[in-house]
Amino acid sequence: MSEVIESLLILQDRDQRVTRLTSELQHIPIEEASLAKKLAAQSVRLEQLKTDARKVETDRKKLELDVKTKQDLIAKYKTQQQQTRKNDEFAALNHEIERAEKEINDTEDIELDLMAKYEQATKAVAVEEAALKTFQDKVALSRAELSKKKALLETELTKAKELLVQAEGKVDEATLRRYRRILVSKKDVAIVPIVHGVCTGCHYKLTATSVSHAKAMQELVACDNCGRIVYWQTE
Ligand SMILES: [Zn+2]
Repeated sequence: MSEVIESLLILQDRDQRVTRLTSELQHIPIEEASLAKKLAAQSVRLEQLKTDARKVETDRKKLELDVKTKQDLIAKYKTQQQQTRKNDEFAALNHEIERAEKEINDTEDIELDLMAKYEQATKAVAVEEAALKTFQDKVALSRAELSKKKALLETELTKAKELLVQAEGKVDEATLRRYRRILVSKKDVAIVPIVHGVCTGCHYKLTATSVSHAKAMQELVACDNCGRIVYWQTE
């Protein structure tokens, strides 16, 4: 019986290796997707900063046009002043000119602010561009590593599956079916050692009969609680 247990333990070990390698392989596309998502987010951030900078510049150009319009208006008023002989009309035009000049001054102050803002925005774009470039290089490297890891895992998995088939061949069909049935239902392990009279699969105390049967190694003993195969671990 100890031979069967030994074969089952080898089988279980190889099963676990196949499971682990399969899960690692399945995780690679997830890691790749996560990299692509981060890269896309960073690109979106850069585009947003560029849009912000363009908006500042567009606003400033609009103000520049406003100033130009007002300067034209002042020129027009001055021409009108030269043509009029009425004092009150001259004074009214003077008033309009002063108002336009004041508005030009205010607008130019805002323009200066926007110029400073544009400079800041341009710097932010440059910083983000550099960060994106660095991140793109990092992502390219990570992708290459992942692809290398994937190839390695695939090779290991093929080998592990071969070893698993070999291990299955060492166990009789009925026991193999029993082992597979337990593994499907328990998901983790099908055969576990008894430690201090306890099934290490479910941590339930085994009956004295089960323990003595396991010790005798005349048959495969199942845990009374979880149904996993339990075996007596000789020191
Ligand atoms: Zn158990």
